[in-house]
Amino acid sequence: MNNRYSRQTLFAEIGKEGQEKLLSSSVLIVGCGALGAAHAETLARAGVGRLKIVDRDFVEFSNLQRQNLFSETDAKERLPKAIAAKNRLFEINSEVEVEAIVTDVNHSNIEDLIKDCDVIVDGTDNFQTRYLINDACVKHNKTWIYGAAVSSYGVTMTIIPQVSPCLRCIFEEIPGAGSSPTCDTAGVIQPIISIVSAVQTTEVLKILVGKTKSLHQSLMQFDVWQNDWRKIKLGVPNADCKTCGQRDFEFLEAENVEFSAVLCGRDAVQISPRATSDLDLRALAQKLKSFGEVKQNEYLVRLKYDVFELTVFRDARAIIRGTDDVSVARSIYTRLIGN
Ligand SMILES: [Zn+2]
Repeated sequence: MNNRYSRQTLFAEIGKEGQEKLLSSSVLIVGCGALGAAHAETLARAGVGRLKIVDRDFVEFSNLQRQNLFSETDAKERLPKAIAAKNRLFEINSEVEVEAIVTDVNHSNIEDLIKDCDVIVDGTDNFQTRYLINDACVKHNKTWIYGAAVSSYGVTMTIIPQVSPCLRCIFEEIPGAGSSPTCDTAGVIQPIISIVSAVQTTEVLKILVGKTKSLHQSLMQFDVWQNDWRKIKLGVPNADCKTCGQRDFEFLEAENVEFSAVLCGRDAVQISPRATSDLDLRALAQKLKSFGEVKQNEYLVRLKYDVFELTVFRDARAIIRGTDDVSVARSIYTRLIGN
């Protein structure tokens, strides 16, 4: 081993033995926005041997204020975040194996995504995906680390199935759509991302080196602007909890899956076909030219269509901007892409 990790192995809680464990570990990062990018950078620098990064979105200029891994070039090229992250992480630590997966995380792939990973970190921006991760991780007995940040406020909690309360033990029902502030409606500042992601990634390191006694065992809440830091001690799992008590994994059931979803305050709707496919993007771009201005790269096709902007990915998933009406988006999708 070269001296890349010398300052980390000098830290007695990790040491050389802990470093070996990190090098042979795998972590799944779900969502590579501000939190996910911060997780990825910290864990790659720390020498976690394998990182699997899954994200459905592409880099935009409005991301650059807080999403540390991305550059103006990534935004200009509209690179998928998972790919842009992988490129940047290779520059940071080429010894780490990074698997970039450009897809929407849903009931059909979550169990597969988590199965070969030691720990799962939450870098998502929505409750639907978090409840899905919670169901899958409890079902397969995987530790995951919940984290969220909006405005100057953040929250995190570490979930070890059957040992500590799961997400549903604490938040029984999923919050209604539009009931919580989002980064797009309330904004967000970068320092709260640093704080939440720092606590999350420290928990990952503790788990991977086997120092679980040092886990914070609480629901941590921070408001970096209001200078309010809280730590609510967690007890044991709730025996009546639907997920970890009754083992009713409803978010993994196909019939509960939305075909389309309004994207968190972005004036956009995502359409995810049930059946996965591998589109010929060049042919699609050609086909869409008669509707308006088309741009295409290796990963997506984008069309300006009337007041809308349609972005189609290779797996046939589409983001339709310019509406938050699912039926309008579906109709545009059906008209232009077919199903
Ligand atoms: Zn529970």
